[in-house]
Amino acid sequence: MDMPVNPVWQQHLFLGGWQTGEGEPLAVTEPATGERLSQVKAATPADVDRAATIARDAQQRWAAVPFDQKAEILRTAAALLKERAGEINGWNTRECGSIGPKAEWELQATYEQAQMAAALPMQPSGQIFPSNLPGKRNYWQRIPLGTVGVIAPWNFPILLSMRSVLPALALGNCVILKPDPKSSVCGGALMAQVLQDAGLPEGVFHVLPGGPEVGQALVEHPLVKMISFTGSTAVGRKIGETCGRMLKKAALELGGNNAQVVLDDADLDAASSCGAWGSFLHQGQICMQTGRHLVHRSVADAYIERLAARAGNLACGDPWQQQVHLGPLINEAQARRVEDILQRSVAMGARIVVGGRRRGNFVDATVIADVTPDMPVFSEEIFGPVAPVMAFDSDDQATDLVNESPYGLAAAIHSGSTERARRIAERIRVGMVHINDQTVNNEFQVPFGGLGSSGNSGRFGGPANLDEFTTSQWVSVLDEGIQYPF
Ligand code: NAD
Repeated sequence: MDMPVNPVWQQHLFLGGWQTGEGEPLAVTEPATGERLSQVKAATPADVDRAATIARDAQQRWAAVPFDQKAEILRTAAALLKERAGEINGWNTRECGSIGPKAEWELQATYEQAQMAAALPMQPSGQIFPSNLPGKRNYWQRIPLGTVGVIAPWNFPILLSMRSVLPALALGNCVILKPDPKSSVCGGALMAQVLQDAGLPEGVFHVLPGGPEVGQALVEHPLVKMISFTGSTAVGRKIGETCGRMLKKAALELGGNNAQVVLDDADLDAASSCGAWGSFLHQGQICMQTGRHLVHRSVADAYIERLAARAGNLACGDPWQQQVHLGPLINEAQARRVEDILQRSVAMGARIVVGGRRRGNFVDATVIADVTPDMPVFSEEIFGPVAPVMAFDSDDQATDLVNESPYGLAAAIHSGSTERARRIAERIRVGMVHINDQTVNNEFQVPFGGLGSSGNSGRFGGPANLDEFTTSQWVSVLDEGIQYPF
């Protein structure tokens, strides 16, 4: 079955409304087959300038829209996401290689983000502070930043763009979204349609598909007051440098190499199930992927046996044609990269227990054992369906191994003693730790984010959104003028 294509987004850019753009067509390709599915209109740096100017002019009018009207638009957007689930999930499967349940989960999580964003405009927006001066009143109030630039990746293109776009809009900002070129339809064009049909006023939201040059123009544009970036550490660093030079606010959510620690008193059936989910979900293309399984030596063989049995049962194929657990990796370069990491690690002494096979863009669920910290499979972010297992001998050594990685996004600890697990949790440098669960955890109401090379401590979700997507202003009021000594 073909996906419905829309001539509007095939030939136009969403600059607060659909407009003819100057850029070239950008092919939309299916990673499972290599088939060209459609095209979108690519943006250019000149379009960034147009969008930023339109957004600057629209922002104060949008900020002044009454809070209940803003909330109503966001609630309508949430309802439209559900209404259009068939179309959105279909594109997520074909454009991004997502299996059906992953696409459904992502849409539900985005719906929850939209509902939460709809509650933001009615939050208190300030505080009153005392003053030493009789009669003086000090108001501290949250104000919008102005225009927020959102740069998103392709792996969860809807959720990872909308978790910034929706709260930023709710708090009175205009937003320019640059989706990844590999997810321009589901992470861009379809979201433009949803927000336009929800009644968002013209000029408030913009979608500019394109590659690094468009992202760079957005980061460097003086009218864009904040960048919310989710993507690789290398690109995040560059964006952070530019934002630092321009004194621009930046929220950077970057890569990870997340550990699952399995202590000798853990429930190995639960731990291996969490390990399989954490490493193989969405073919491992998740920032919170379990990239390192650190297992107490006394239970390592039993854990590997259980994990390998689970991996061996996972079917890999085209998720549009068959019911599978694993779809394709996003492109051949990524699949070859995973294969290369495996081959280099095997050459250094690692042992493939199950999987390890690449066919085009497909890589089977792989368990690799006898891993040591100097191997690429331990030190690099894999972003593929690979579970590297390394044995340790003490809680202290496990803690040191977790902290050996410069990344600090998520971790999981499995133990029969939650006290013992908590003691380790307190000593590891990661933004999110899950005891007796897996690393790929996301709940819209809890602040989410990493440390170290995984980000600059920006947080998404729950109360953190208020701080991320606003700045503040102190307004003091005296009823009459005052005279100073000179
Ligand atoms: P990437 O950094 O290559 O691309 C991400 C986005 O940045 C894309 O839209 C891309 O077009 C844009 N971009 C690329 N170069 C740019 C530049 N110089 N200036 C501005 N924008 C630029 O990331 P990727 O490899 O496609 O995505 C996977 C990475 O994202 C992984 O490292 C993963 O861990 C990370 N990620 C992090 C989180 C998180 O919440 N921490 C979530 C998902 C993915």
